[in-house]
This record gives sequence, C-alpha cells and structure tokens, in this order.
Amino acid sequence: MNCTKCKTKAVIDLPRHNAAFCKGCFTGFVHDQVARAIKSEWMFGKEERILVAVSGGKDSLALWNILLKLGYRADGLYVDLGIGVYSEQSHAKVTKFAEAVATSHGATLHLHTVEQEAGAGIKELAQLIHRPTCSTCGTIKRYQFNRVAIEQNYDVMATGHNLDDEAARLLGNVLHWQEEYLDKQGPSLPASVAGFAKKVKPLYRLSERELAAYAVLNRIDYIVEECPMAKGSKMLQYKEVLNRLETESPGTKQTFYWGFLDKQRKKQPTAITMTEKDRAVLHPCASCSQPTTAEVCSYCKMMAKAKTVVPR
Ligand SMILES: [Zn+2]
Ligand SMILES: [Zn+2]
Repeated sequence: MNCTKCKTKAVIDLPRHNAAFCKGCFTGFVHDQVARAIKSEWMFGKEERILVAVSGGKDSLALWNILLKLGYRADGLYVDLGIGVYSEQSHAKVTKFAEAVATSHGATLHLHTVEQEAGAGIKELAQLIHRPTCSTCGTIKRYQFNRVAIEQNYDVMATGHNLDDEAARLLGNVLHWQEEYLDKQGPSLPASVAGFAKKVKPLYRLSERELAAYAVLNRIDYIVEECPMAKGSKMLQYKEVLNRLETESPGTKQTFYWGFLDKQRKKQPTAITMTEKDRAVLHPCASCSQPTTAEVCSYCKMMAKAKTVVPR
C-alpha cells in the first residue's frame, strides 16, 4: 500500500476517502481537514484567543496540538473530576502535554478541580444530589468551560468532538426526535447572549480512528481508557452501531452527519435563528449571572444542594 500523494510507503488507509497516506502526508491531511472546518464554519481567526477543553484523551490533546501548529492562539482548560485513578492519569497526561506546549508555544493551562468547589468528587456528588454521574459531569464541564472562557476573555471555546461523536449524538437525537437538540448540533454555535462563549468543534471532519492515528504518529501521549463512568452508555452503543455500518459501507458517518449539516444550512434563512430563540428564553442566573432559563441555573442549584449535604 503506497501513499496516494507521494507514492512512498503508506502507514494508514482511509477507505472513506479512497486514500492511503504516509506519516507526513497524513499529518498534512489532518491539518487540512481542521483548517477547512475552521474556515467553512467561520470558527475563529488568527488574532482570536481560543480556549480548548482538554481531557487527556486523544481528541482534545490532538486538537490543542493542531491549533498551535496551524498558528492559532490556543490555551487549555482541564476539569479534574476526581474519578480516582482515571482522573489522576488523565491529569498527568494533560500536565505533561501542557508543559511541552508552554515551552514551544507559550500556551497556558487552566485548571478547575471539582472536589475543591463541591467538596466531593463527581461520583459522590452525583449520588448526593441523586442524579446520573454523566449528566452531573456534563453540567459541571459545560458550566466551568463557559465560566473560564468568559472570565479570562477568550473569544471562543473549542472542544475535541470528532465525526464519530457527532454522528452518534445525531443518531441519538434523531431516534428520540429531540428537535430542540438538533438545532444545537452544528460545529459552530454563536455567543447568542451576553455571558455565553462561542463554542466550536474543529474536529468534526475527522474520525476517531484518524485522530488516534494522528496522536500516535505525532507522539502525543494520551489516556487510552474511556471514562469508567461512560461504560455501557447509549453514546457508546450508537458508536458501535455506526462502526458496523461504516465497515460495510465506508463513508456512512460522514454522509449522515455532513448531510445533516447541509440540510441545516439550507434551512437557516427561514427558520427563527437560534440566537433569537436563546434571547427570548435566557436571562442571568440570580446567583452567578451565567445565562439560564430558570431563576437559578442548574449548576448553582447543584452546588447549593451539595453544600447542604457535604460538610465543609
Ligand atoms: Zn506521502
Ligand atoms: Zn448560576
């Protein structure tokens, strides 16, 4: 198998693109895909400050690496969830990577520790407030990423969601006809109201397998294990199903998700824009002033509840 571009020995084949690449050409391909995503979705420019949400996994570390390599001003934020060994290991990988990019690019790592603010790790916290761990985690991460982005004056917040993540999420939303979520499944969400940061997903054109290969070939040391809390989750089931379809007919995931994005784009002019919808229902939280649909936001409610049960 030879590289489609330079004809030397290929290290990876990409059936959905009908191509194979050597290490150098593959890295170039990955960088091109991200550059295309940034440009076509109007994500950010070279002058803007980007906050990358990093978990220690391949996607988020690869994203931080790619943005710096492409010449963007990107810093990282890590949220320590306090999930035993998993968090210790992922924190260590993030710290090591952050030290390297601090030296090479002057990038900064911000850190938020759940235990410090809530008085308990995510697992205990979820039990105390009687909510599933993954949704508790989602609320905390969303809240903290937005808070840091706003407080530290970042122009945009970037997450490492890849094509597999977005296709699986789309499948879940379609299966349950969650139309309000479908509207928010684009790779570039504007800062619709004051207090909300713009959110982008520059990896939506790349698959999980491609990002794993990129991380390995570029010697990015990441945590291989999935979060232990996510075992058996619906998202993982959807990914499995999509992987089976992808093996049978390469390109299924991209046709599904990119096809959806095409439809959304065409629909935009007539539908009420998301920004208008958000402005109609969102106002500042009475406690922290981050935008919310309720009197007090779900994060503040959660923290208030945690503080009544966890002795400080
Ligand atoms: Zn090549
Ligand atoms: Zn609040």
